[in-house]
Amino acid sequence: MIETIFFEEQISNHPTTERIRKALPRSTWVPIERYQELFNKRHQNFKLQKKNPALILAKKHENFVLPVPSGFGMDSHKNFYFSHMYNCLYDCKYCFLQGLYSSANFVLFVNYEDFFHSISEKIAEYKGKSLTFFSGYDCDSLAFDKLSGFADHALTFFETFPNVELELRTKSIAINSLLQRKPLDNCIVAFSLSPSEIAKSMDSKAPNINRRINAIKQLAETGWKIGLRFDPLIYTSNWKNLYSSLFEEILNGLNPSMLHSISYGPLRFPKKMYKKAASLHPEQKLFAFPMEETKGIVSYGKKIETEMHDFLKSELNKYTSENKIFQCTI
Ligand code: SF4
Repeated sequence: MIETIFFEEQISNHPTTERIRKALPRSTWVPIERYQELFNKRHQNFKLQKKNPALILAKKHENFVLPVPSGFGMDSHKNFYFSHMYNCLYDCKYCFLQGLYSSANFVLFVNYEDFFHSISEKIAEYKGKSLTFFSGYDCDSLAFDKLSGFADHALTFFETFPNVELELRTKSIAINSLLQRKPLDNCIVAFSLSPSEIAKSMDSKAPNINRRINAIKQLAETGWKIGLRFDPLIYTSNWKNLYSSLFEEILNGLNPSMLHSISYGPLRFPKKMYKKAASLHPEQKLFAFPMEETKGIVSYGKKIETEMHDFLKSELNKYTSENKIFQCTI
């Protein structure tokens, strides 16, 4: 349960605020003026806040939809992302959010309608082009869905734009809002995955890999298109065996027509983020590995990256065609 909920007074009567108020009547509700007063404060203790984060309900005023950084998207003409939330219920050790924000509290922007308005403007601007909109860049798309109800709103909106794709990126198994409705041909439910052994030590608080695979299979069986995201790739002494077994477990028995795409990407951190993540998790073997730094980016280095890329590509080619496999490079 979330103990404290801060809410901007200007959205105190918004339907999403009302919905959350009904779901969490016993939390302490504290009015505030603007979310930045709390969220952007310097010198907050991210690790301590992560143990018991507060929820901040806010209104977003600008920058609803942004182009994805180069190297992130698949093969659409244009790729955009939007973030109805900052921060995540889970606590993955490599998560870039811990280096991005000074606070671990959750911010939920309740004015979903303004996101959809901006998305429809982009669709009109790029009429006739193939577009993909990614949700889950600054949060997990579904992890908070029981409270936020966002997925249902997003699906209702994208149902009216069948030529435009929506990707819901997640590690969550909160898939009820999807199972309860007819699958959308233009929605990809993209699961982030690592081999079980790696996820156990790094994807703290996230559902284990078996549960994620079950959710994938349930969604595919009911007609939802699936994306598989192996990003970041984690290097261990037995990584080849671990990744091969994981692919076999997921892809054997998965209806190929339900597989939209597979992407994978190397582990990379801007130097400042790497330092912050390493200081938050000094016990993690990941941060004891002799990483390389090139132009302010910390990574395993070219040799390991190429070895992992070549192996993954050839393994994944056993299960699906080349045009469904993408390498992300950010
Ligand atoms: S699920 Fe994604 S957003 Fe959430 S903590 Fe893990 S890496 Fe970060």
